[in-house]
Amino acid sequence: MNIVELVKNAGVVGAGGAGFPTHIKLSAKVDTVIANGAECEPLLRCDQQMMALYAERVVRGIQLVVESTGAKNGIIALKEKYHKATESLEREISKLSQKNISIFHLGNFYPAGDEFVLVYEVTGKIIPEGGLPLDVGLVVDNVVTLMNIANAVDGKPVTDRPLTVCGSVKNPLTAFFPVGTLISEVIKFAGGSPLAEYTVLDGGPMMGTIVPENASITKKTSGILVLPSDSEVVYQKSNKHAVKQIKSACEQCQDCTEICPRFLLGHGLECHKIQRSTSAGLQDNITMAFMCCECGLCDWVCPVKLLPRRINQESKKLLFKQGIKNPHHKTPPAVHPMREYRRVPIERVLGRLDLIKYDKPAPFTDKKFDISEVKIPLRQNAGVSAEAIVKVGDVVKKGQLIAKIPEGKLSANIHASIDGKVTEVSNFIKIER
Ligand code: SF4
Ligand code: SF4
Repeated sequence: MNIVELVKNAGVVGAGGAGFPTHIKLSAKVDTVIANGAECEPLLRCDQQMMALYAERVVRGIQLVVESTGAKNGIIALKEKYHKATESLEREISKLSQKNISIFHLGNFYPAGDEFVLVYEVTGKIIPEGGLPLDVGLVVDNVVTLMNIANAVDGKPVTDRPLTVCGSVKNPLTAFFPVGTLISEVIKFAGGSPLAEYTVLDGGPMMGTIVPENASITKKTSGILVLPSDSEVVYQKSNKHAVKQIKSACEQCQDCTEICPRFLLGHGLECHKIQRSTSAGLQDNITMAFMCCECGLCDWVCPVKLLPRRINQESKKLLFKQGIKNPHHKTPPAVHPMREYRRVPIERVLGRLDLIKYDKPAPFTDKKFDISEVKIPLRQNAGVSAEAIVKVGDVVKKGQLIAKIPEGKLSANIHASIDGKVTEVSNFIKIER
């Protein structure tokens, strides 16, 4: 079986958040493969520790992607401040006979891990508006995805997910959890929260989304963040009046545009114009929202605390509903001349969002947690849900295929993450030990 088939069978999806089925990417032909080890979300400590502790898996993974895509070289991009990870990776790279894998150091800014930003930082190439790394001869894979690729080729499917549990928890930590572990359990393993009332995010403070505690972790979950329900971050993500507020208070100062990482790459995304059109009830410029990566820097910078990212998200939903396609496909000739001076240091993001008190180590533990049940969602990937192939009452073993890719569709296989009995099959598969 070739690499693509092995990765497809193992159910590998993009672990950085998008969940794109990895076997599709591996079928492409490119010049260079970039490993995304930026981990630019403040407070998360997963990828940097994975690179330090499992450097052999990361390097093996990028070698396999280089081989599969026919690339000439692979570049592992991580922040300069990840010293332990750099040491481990350098040690592994030095053992290779073929000298086609290297390291690239990024600064400590947000959003260094955005694929478009990353590609420009590493190669100087600008991905076209609405494009993909493939358009400039590249494939980008998150470092945990690369570990999963290496494991897949060794016959091990994706059953566990490394993630950081942080924020207002007693013992922030990073650990592997079976896919489908309830978020409430994950928080308990980190000592619980001292807060009487809190809100939980799947992901980091910038791009994470609010989730209920009875939801479960997926192959894409890189962090579980617990915050007070009255925090600035929670306000930004839950405020139901974003549209009304834009209509009444947007000053058209353009700060949201001037800080936008996509605008600074030369893309025609002028965030203030989307807000102006929304205020005036017009359709002009709304399609610019297709170019927004939802990084949230515009929310962070708005002087009157409006939420332009939320408007962009709502605009995109509306456009999809209306069947309108992205008309923006220009390749900018150059980045904005001020780009390098407008990179936002992570410390400033933390300060502005009042998160400095949570900026603590979340050390890795290899402790085996006692997980008595998992609820494994059938959809953890871009594309359609996997189809369950087990029924209530079946006894399954960890690693056993329990849901498969529907014929001819974009999806990903799913495997049991613990031994046990299937007790429910709906839009998830529940397994009790
Ligand atoms: S930063 Fe705020 S006030 Fe200024 S244009 Fe953008 S949304 Fe309007
Ligand atoms: S969220 Fe705001 S800053 Fe980020 S890409 Fe979209 S418009 Fe630009």
